[in-house]
Amino acid sequence: MTISEWLRGLGDERERLPYDAAELHEAAAFAVRGVPRERLPLRLSKHRIEALNSCPRRALAEAANPPDASSELFLIGRLVERAARMHLWGRYPTGDPDALRQALIEHSSARGEELPELDDMVWESIALRADRFARSWGDTNPDLDVHVGERLVVPLAVDAHGRAGVVLTGITDISIGTHVAAHPHQPRAVLELKSGRTPWNPLNESLWYQFMVSAADGCAPHRVGLWAAAPDTNHQFGDLVDSPVNAGSIATATRRVCEALIVVGGIAAGEKPEERPSVLCRRCPDRQVCPSAHVGMAQVRVDADDHLDGWDDDPDDLDGDGLDGTA
Ligand code: SF4
Repeated sequence: MTISEWLRGLGDERERLPYDAAELHEAAAFAVRGVPRERLPLRLSKHRIEALNSCPRRALAEAANPPDASSELFLIGRLVERAARMHLWGRYPTGDPDALRQALIEHSSARGEELPELDDMVWESIALRADRFARSWGDTNPDLDVHVGERLVVPLAVDAHGRAGVVLTGITDISIGTHVAAHPHQPRAVLELKSGRTPWNPLNESLWYQFMVSAADGCAPHRVGLWAAAPDTNHQFGDLVDSPVNAGSIATATRRVCEALIVVGGIAAGEKPEERPSVLCRRCPDRQVCPSAHVGMAQVRVDADDHLDGWDDDPDDLDGDGLDGTA
């Protein structure tokens, strides 16, 4: 399915599903109850919540030792996704690798970032993936209200002085519609971009955006999709996976966030973080010192590419990641 096909008929969708935030508020209030005031607010984003749910100790270790976002692999991912966004702004003509390269260099320069030297093959790979996005976007309805980099913020456990005890943050790659709680009939969708292959479980990604839009807007989005530039099958449009949005998926997403909130609240209050060994021990910064690492290291290896998507480590996407309120 192309992005254009996926977005077809969005304007005819039913009214959005109202979000019941009671469980979320309850979990946030519980999470902050033993945390010293100076350590609040607890700030959490997608990556940190995933890490907390998989292994609390690893989440803490990663917060202290973030992955190297300057590696070539991360850089390629970041540039592909920037190229996709810039395509929507009309900054370069589709199918012109030189213009794309120049546009990306200028964009980085405008942000005060110096791009390292990349050889021609790397630029070709970026251009190939960016062109797949452009083809997949194709003739998407120009009347849709398209935004890039929408920042979603959900303050919770707000005290009598208006200070939040918990702040959840997320940035969408592409949004249709913005904070439209007052207009529940307007189309609302989120498209997450991956510069690499389709994740082994796209629903994991989708659930986060289903949750964040629901909690920020007060209503669930109509659609959440995940587009990957380089799926295993060599598809000229990339690969788009649609994840159903319904009461069950929103409840699952909320439960995951609530679990992470309880864990991070416990850690911030001084509890020892739990060790949950898994295949992810192989990439854990604490694997040399963690007593449980040998259990995870003995498990079957997953494909290392699954989690190495540039946007996951874009500085824009890592705001509010601190476990102790110091991010
Ligand atoms: S080595 Fe494994 S169990 Fe230990 S902190 Fe890292 S991910 Fe968790």
